[in-house]
Amino acid sequence: MLSKVITIIFDGLGDRPVKELGNKTPLEAAATPNLDRLAANGICGLMHTMGRGIRPGSDVAHMSIFGYPMEKYYTGRGPIEVAGLGLRLQSGDIAFRGNFATVDDKWNITDRRAGRITDVTELAKALNGIKIDGIEFIVLAGTAHRAGVVMRGEGLSSAVSDSDPHEEGKPVYAVKPLNSSPEAHFTAAVLNKFLKQSNEVLSSHPANKKRVSNGKLPANFLLLRGAGVYPSLPAFKDKYGMSACCIAGGGLYKGIGAFLGMDIIDVPGATALPDSDVEAKFKTAVEMLVKYDFVFVHVKAADSLAEDGNYMGKKEFIEKCDKAANTLLKLPEDTLLVITADHTTPSALKAHSADPVPVLFCGAGIRTDRVAEFNETAVSSGGLGIIEGKDIMPEVLNLLGKLPLAGA
Ligand code: ZN
Repeated sequence: MLSKVITIIFDGLGDRPVKELGNKTPLEAAATPNLDRLAANGICGLMHTMGRGIRPGSDVAHMSIFGYPMEKYYTGRGPIEVAGLGLRLQSGDIAFRGNFATVDDKWNITDRRAGRITDVTELAKALNGIKIDGIEFIVLAGTAHRAGVVMRGEGLSSAVSDSDPHEEGKPVYAVKPLNSSPEAHFTAAVLNKFLKQSNEVLSSHPANKKRVSNGKLPANFLLLRGAGVYPSLPAFKDKYGMSACCIAGGGLYKGIGAFLGMDIIDVPGATALPDSDVEAKFKTAVEMLVKYDFVFVHVKAADSLAEDGNYMGKKEFIEKCDKAANTLLKLPEDTLLVITADHTTPSALKAHSADPVPVLFCGAGIRTDRVAEFNETAVSSGGLGIIEGKDIMPEVLNLLGKLPLAGA
């Protein structure tokens, strides 16, 4: 009887035929004996992650697959990124993504990444805990110049503009309310006070004085964007009755796992880049089955390579993933394997598209079909037909015998 699940999401795996690859997609052109074997043993289909005709962003595509529809639970990128930094957000918190940046005396941006500063831990600490008008600011260091910022308190709104003009040489934007509510006006006013105070604290911070004396740019400003309110949402475990963990290299994907209440498992060598140790991630996923019912594994690089137009790199990365998938051929009898993607990223477009993605279920005792290869064309004749992202979890529950009976 199936009782455990590994779900692997290859970011941007789907593609379109590439002339230089003999009119095959990178997935079709790649040698993938292990993924093909899994396809032959399982049941396949195509999936519109967010419904037909919708071009999904990665964050909301993942949420759809896990059964958290965008309309109900997505309020912006901020809360997801901040969850990925390890903070347990509370319902009503307003979260932002942030960059430590360099500004001049007139708040014109000299460098959006503060001279590619590599560690902002000390600077984040100096801002963490600032209180303005009864609102507490929680500031967390991210990787390199990145940070997460949370406003916690009464009377807040996420309807505020970014302070980040996204361009160097331009002045920092004053935060503005995006609607006429008193909450939006209050939040914008408090944020503008925070930006001023944080600029003062950062400018006089010893770490920045040292940077300047070493000829480096000071990280004297915190640019904020992507305001979102942390929604009240059921944790994955409560929603499905399965303990869950997330294995990912990229911050956004750890964030998605943490946002949904999954434990985050760090795997050395998981970088979210083409050099990522995919094999270590798959091996760790299998090990985690002892402790967790549901293991989500995210693999990033097929997407970033396609966004660079690098179809050959994408093909080679897929082949590397296929070698790593050797680990998945002999899973424990009680384990269901789901392999899919969050969206298609055609290398020719260098962007996400609405084309459906391949999806595969494989496990002991489940139905199979005649599909014997894992790629866009082969799976289109599979037994799952064309499904949507929101169909994945009901299908998982069905195969695990956990779906409630409709009617009598
Ligand atoms: Zn994606």
